Amino acid sequence: MKISKRAQAVPPSATMAVTARAKELKAQGIDIVSFGAGEPDFDTPDFIKDAAIEAIKSGKTKYTATPGIIELRKAIAEKLQKENNLTYTPEQIIVNIGAKHSVYESLQATLDEGDEVILPAPYWVTYPEAIKLAGGTAKVVETDAANSYKITPDQLKTAITDKTVMLLLNSPNNPGGFSYSPEELGQIAKVLEGTDIMVLSDEIYEKLVYGDTKFISFAALSEDAYNRTITINGLSKAFAMTGWRLGYTAGPVEVIKAMGKLQSHMTQNAVTFAQAAAITALEDTTGAVEKMRIEFEKRGAYMAERLNAIEGVTCAEPTGAFYCFPDVSAHFGRNIGGAELSGSMELAAALLEQANVALVPGQPFGCPNNVRLSFACSLEQIDKGLSRIEEWLS
Ligand code: PMP
Repeated sequence: MKISKRAQAVPPSATMAVTARAKELKAQGIDIVSFGAGEPDFDTPDFIKDAAIEAIKSGKTKYTATPGIIELRKAIAEKLQKENNLTYTPEQIIVNIGAKHSVYESLQATLDEGDEVILPAPYWVTYPEAIKLAGGTAKVVETDAANSYKITPDQLKTAITDKTVMLLLNSPNNPGGFSYSPEELGQIAKVLEGTDIMVLSDEIYEKLVYGDTKFISFAALSEDAYNRTITINGLSKAFAMTGWRLGYTAGPVEVIKAMGKLQSHMTQNAVTFAQAAAITALEDTTGAVEKMRIEFEKRGAYMAERLNAIEGVTCAEPTGAFYCFPDVSAHFGRNIGGAELSGSMELAAALLEQANVALVPGQPFGCPNNVRLSFACSLEQIDKGLSRIEEWLS
């Protein structure tokens, strides 16, 4: 059957190859330690599940307004005011079917053919494809390990052309595990002043920050930043609700209206009873999010310590999200167990086959010297997996 050029141009997910092979090996009964997960290992807290069950029982099972029920949009507006110092009306907010959908739809609503989007590497694998599918061009900016892989104001200035319409920022970052400080974001905002460049700020890992890291929403930096920013967030990561598919976008009313038009023909509303439960989740009266954050913090610090103890591996301690992103390039060019480690893809594949540890190569994230390890798993698994990696590399 005929397949569109658009669909043909989308590459299969490069991160999925290792995950699929890990599943195969597991099915054969092999004990695999998996650092591949992009989702919390915790279950959704009971108080949120109870709210969804209650919503189903009380008949919240029909279509809602496209941008979501007004009660949820009000709850999101309140959250953004209270936690992020951002003033949005419910008309400036749309609930989407996961933050991935928020990214896709906001790009569809704002980009035209040939528009350039500045995308600092490392980046989440979905961004370049979503930009391309909206007709845009991702202008990838390589960053330095010395600056924890964050784009500098000078790098940003150099990347801007007369075709630039957007900067895509993701802090805390997947896969980098780093976060921009308020000062660093302030300097980036200064570069954009006087331009028409929009900022798409993906803040999905907002609640997962560690040490003395302070999170600030890009739109909260100044009035100028507020006016140019589309803020994306969701419940997947912080509330351990990946399967519920709840994301949201807040921004200029014309962008949100355009997204609503697209969404009304694509997907309609987010699941009705999930929307009801999201109101309860956002209230988080149980402190469930903070308990998970504390656990992630311990695991991240331990994983980074273990990685740095391995010769030829360097890793900054993660300040956000649930990923370590070590540079392993000192091992490229080696031959281990008959496998040539010519890059991160080959290293990840050989590590899985020979030492039974699954991690994700950095190449599809735009950082070929690195690999990504998720610490959304137990300390025991981290201990076991890191011992295997250490032994294998030595
Ligand atoms: N943004 C980033 C940076 C992510 O890592 C992810 C999930 N991998 C998403 C957005 C999408 O999250 P959701 O499950 O809400 O679609």
